Amino acid sequence: MIAYGPVPSRRLGRSVGVNNIPPKTCTYACAYCQVGDTLDMQIERREFYRPEDIAHEVGNRLEEVRGVGDTIDFLSFVPDGEPTLDVNLGLEIELLRTSGLPIAVITNSSLLGLPDVRRELATADWVSLKVDSVNEDVWRRLNRPHRKLDLSEILDGMMTFRNMFSGTLVTETMIVAGVNDTVQHAVETAAFLSRLKPDKAYLAVPTRPPALKWVLPPDSDAMVRYHDAFAKQVSVVEFLMGYEGDDFSAAGNPRENLLGITAVHPMRRQAVAELLDRAGASWSVVEELMSDGSLREVEYAGHRYYLRRPRWN
Ligand code: SF4
Repeated sequence: MIAYGPVPSRRLGRSVGVNNIPPKTCTYACAYCQVGDTLDMQIERREFYRPEDIAHEVGNRLEEVRGVGDTIDFLSFVPDGEPTLDVNLGLEIELLRTSGLPIAVITNSSLLGLPDVRRELATADWVSLKVDSVNEDVWRRLNRPHRKLDLSEILDGMMTFRNMFSGTLVTETMIVAGVNDTVQHAVETAAFLSRLKPDKAYLAVPTRPPALKWVLPPDSDAMVRYHDAFAKQVSVVEFLMGYEGDDFSAAGNPRENLLGITAVHPMRRQAVAELLDRAGASWSVVEELMSDGSLREVEYAGHRYYLRRPRWN
């Protein structure tokens, strides 16, 4: 299916997805990939579908969705593969402009070394770049790239892209236990991001069954340490832990507020106490959430933190 959704997401609101790549055609075979192992690994850009067909399918989907009174905030290229492998990406973005909706692209960044990819991506409104590691060994182990890809070219390409892109740039860093979950990795990756200056840096943990069985999310202690080290260099950092579709607008409901905030940022005990206090609630809310397993408590650097447990679907 070329057009799907709308899918609710914390980052993009309600977005209609554009699937411009056949399943698992990718430049990477990430160990944590949630859509299975890469079936067709390649780095040559080519046409997969006719751009007119993509525009037509998306147009039909928008009509259906709008016909039942649903709202849409974004059109987003989020295929089960790498969207920049599509040689017509730029043309498709141009054709979809007639929808009047802002356009997002979620890419693994692997082809950012190519000038035409940077030029086409720069016509989108919101772009997410994957940066799991700037360490060659970790990159190879985690992203399992096509053998002709070169990490330093990719990182340089991302910097060039940053300087030519005027839309919203975010990054996504997947943290996997025992591979890139140490403070040292956090410091290295954050140092790169502090130069890239994304509008927001998202940290993700595996929340769905991965392509390779050894992949596990880091434990809560490692997540707090990683977040802390990252936030020292990158100003806006948030966790993505599989709760993107939840509606956390339950203002005034302390339980929901606490779950909403701790899914994004580890909260110190003092901040939790203040939140409960403002809502006129007691510490028993925390105790209940801890006993049903929704919330974790972590001691780190002399402070007690609370963190929502990642969702594993
Ligand atoms: S880049 Fe995305 S689609 Fe490609 S293997 Fe990695 S997680 Fe899967």
